[in-house]
Amino acid sequence: MTSSWIVSGTQVGDLFVRDGVFVDSEPADAQRIDATGLIALPGLVDLHTHLREPGREDAETVETGSRAAALGGYTAVCAMANTDPVADTAGVVEQVWRLGKDAGLVDVQPIGAVTVGLAGERLAELGAMATSAADVRVFSDDGHCVHDPVLMRRALEYVKAFDGVIAQHAEEPRLTAGAQMNEGDTSARLGLAGWPAVAEEAIIARDVLLAGHVNSRLHICHVSTAGSVELIRWAKSKGWRVTAEVTPHHLLLTDELVGSYDPVFKVNPPLRTEADVLALREGLRDGTIDIVATDHAPHTVEDKECEWAYARPGMVGLETALSIVVEAMAGTDDIWGRVTDWMSVTPARIAGLSQQGQGLRPGAPANLTLFDPSLTWTPGPSELMSRSHNTPYAGRELSGRVVATFLRGEPTVLDGKAQK
Ligand SMILES: [Zn+2]
Repeated sequence: MTSSWIVSGTQVGDLFVRDGVFVDSEPADAQRIDATGLIALPGLVDLHTHLREPGREDAETVETGSRAAALGGYTAVCAMANTDPVADTAGVVEQVWRLGKDAGLVDVQPIGAVTVGLAGERLAELGAMATSAADVRVFSDDGHCVHDPVLMRRALEYVKAFDGVIAQHAEEPRLTAGAQMNEGDTSARLGLAGWPAVAEEAIIARDVLLAGHVNSRLHICHVSTAGSVELIRWAKSKGWRVTAEVTPHHLLLTDELVGSYDPVFKVNPPLRTEADVLALREGLRDGTIDIVATDHAPHTVEDKECEWAYARPGMVGLETALSIVVEAMAGTDDIWGRVTDWMSVTPARIAGLSQQGQGLRPGAPANLTLFDPSLTWTPGPSELMSRSHNTPYAGRELSGRVVATFLRGEPTVLDGKAQK
């Protein structure tokens, strides 16, 4: 079944949808949505989501994560490979891809592991995953760094055959052994073991050199330090094929919050300093950092609400991302055009998703998000549809909220409510 829509009163003019695509004339018998005062954006695309299925369905499933994504304005998410079993074979990536189709709320694009079992010892079946029904183009051991430089070089070379990209979790593990938070003044004051900026920067420096050497595509996950931004800026000045992402929380929150000892603020990489936050914002504004990705990391109460040292790192983020990015990047010229690039067009291009990130033009798939900048809301257990509720924004009033999302012309969210 297909339906036709007229979305009137948007800042880009009226939008017309028929048979799943935007068209340039008003379809007959269409349903009308008055979007006056709303921001119309192409459906958002998240390059870095943890959906936890298979293996940890108590924290999230493909379906619950898809629903959270749709409520956050997303029409596609890339599902990280650190599931149980790990998504390191054609069988597992196809399983995740099919679960996404069954849920039908967003396009779920599996990411394949770089190494078998994320163990960093031998390459996974990259080619088999690329030629599977899931059509994998992004490979990552996220949660772990691909530490062996020879394996990293071979992975970069291997994926060139099908225009794939290696997404690196940049963390020199020996420099972060036992780390509990960012290494700096706050860790010294709190007496917690530090995760130094150089552990991220050393791997980024090595990997941009490798990517340049073999002329292959490297993507840096969740960049968190000012020094990393400088290194990526340098790599891009060389013309190397390097892209990078920043999370909403690294654009807004600092390591001083760890002083509360509330494990909701425990993430990997850790929250950094105010100077890092400002450098990340500047890097995003000047194009050094290409995209915003959520690193949506749901955890159960048992895994998260415990003593700081034992809590799992990560926070949920799909439903709050757009509000947080708009808050963090306030004052940016043409903010909605930039958000379109950061959160839809460019992540779709990096991930090779041809049905996503195509904008709001006639002929493009009708993936659409309507955001009401005048609404305020407070995320909490009753508001969030993710199965886990480890959000740092509970009790904090956020500005602006997604009120409708369309996936190829079909509403997945209307009036702020998920349609499935
Ligand atoms: Zn990571």
